[in-house]
Amino acid sequence: MTTHTFSHLPLSPTQLDNLANMGYLTMTPIQAQSLPVILEGRDLIAQAKTGSGKTAAFGLGILHHLDPARWVPQALVVCPTRELSEQVATELRRLARADGNIKVLTLTGGASARPQNESLAHGAHVIVGTPGRLLDHLARQTLDLSAVRTLVLDEADRMVDMGFFPDVMEIARACPDRRQTLLFSATYPGSIREDVEHLLTNPEFVKVDAVHSETQIEQHFYEIDAAERFNATALLLRHFQPESALAFCNTKAACAELSAHLKRAGFSALALHGDMDQRDRDDVLVQFSNHSSNILVATDVAARGLDIPSLPMVINVELARDPQVHTHRVGRTGRMQESGMALSLCAPDEHYVASRIAQQLGRPLDLKPLPRPQSAGRPTQAPMVTLLVLGGKKAKLRPADLLGALTGDGGLTREQVGKINITDQVSYVALSRAVARSAFPRLENIPIKGKKQRMKLLS
Ligand code: ADP
Ligand code: MG
Repeated sequence: MTTHTFSHLPLSPTQLDNLANMGYLTMTPIQAQSLPVILEGRDLIAQAKTGSGKTAAFGLGILHHLDPARWVPQALVVCPTRELSEQVATELRRLARADGNIKVLTLTGGASARPQNESLAHGAHVIVGTPGRLLDHLARQTLDLSAVRTLVLDEADRMVDMGFFPDVMEIARACPDRRQTLLFSATYPGSIREDVEHLLTNPEFVKVDAVHSETQIEQHFYEIDAAERFNATALLLRHFQPESALAFCNTKAACAELSAHLKRAGFSALALHGDMDQRDRDDVLVQFSNHSSNILVATDVAARGLDIPSLPMVINVELARDPQVHTHRVGRTGRMQESGMALSLCAPDEHYVASRIAQQLGRPLDLKPLPRPQSAGRPTQAPMVTLLVLGGKKAKLRPADLLGALTGDGGLTREQVGKINITDQVSYVALSRAVARSAFPRLENIPIKGKKQRMKLLS
């Protein structure tokens, strides 16, 4: 094993001393991989788990390129929450001790804007903030980003989840085009790739702690009686306990029946089929992606174009009649270098189709009996429930308005509120399942953006 000391990097002797005083003797893996790129001034997309030392990676980069004599914002760090902004600012201040008088200012919601304006007027070198408040300052022209050299997007995946990404794009546009952009994210889902790549120029990509070097899909085939198809599906879900799963049926009727069956069994299952109108479809997809539903039962047609990153399991409740469709279904798991599992049920009348799938795979299917019921755990419920608010972009609602109202007058904690999706007409907010029902009567009566909004819990 090699150890990486900071002393090989082009850092000042005072910074090396400072790091030693902080107890940072060797670089963490993400620091070792990203710091050479960052210090060179190149754009970077870094994927690493929390707790891996990302802050010091970009913090040392920011400070390296900073001119302490110029009292204007030269670096901007955008974070998803106030707490994370404070944590980042604290770490930056510790790192900045080596560089003399460096002012790090946080601009986040929850605090009043006036003292922030005063601090900005006094000058600051580094700004750390949340998208909503940063945009407010930009709109009031109390924040000037024209001298920013380094733009950091921290926990980008969470900002996407919270619906902040359009705001982030707007903030990036307020920075000079010629700048260094660093993006940090625990995951790098396909849904943000395109947006993200507009923000960076020829980025280097680093990733640490990859479990699998390439896509791995485990396929298992189970021999069943046609009459036990739905029970078998529930049994396999209880046996493997996937965090979420996409279950394929060949007809709309089977989708509806299976999702009802799984719901009765205690899963947070929903059906998606071709007869649904756009709003119902949106309702279902949002609930699946914000962790309010963990089992989506779909037909091939309905699943077409579905963009669900990192799906841990696909179940073929009924085998696809065309082996290529089978391959498509299976390919929905194990994306983006994650491992996936594909389970297929096979009744006697499906043996012909199964043989064609085996041909396509180039190996025998090795039909297995179902796991024994004693081996199975309890049905898993999704951790969240979705609050539907009958007001969206047209009513000028923004994620921060909803988050503010729910955690303010609504009395919820930040942790009890999950992903927020806002469409033109409606908004979806994931709430912790443990509190959603008891909190609902109170939530119904709070003002959001000065007005009571009609809402309901989806399930
Ligand atoms: P992340 O942003 O990746 O979640 P942080 O930047 O918050 O991680 O760092 C996690 C913890 O590791 C912090 O307590 C930080 O002080 C510590 N840390 C970071 N880099 C080093 C290092 N090189 N050596 C020792 N501790 C470190
Ligand atoms: Mg961090």
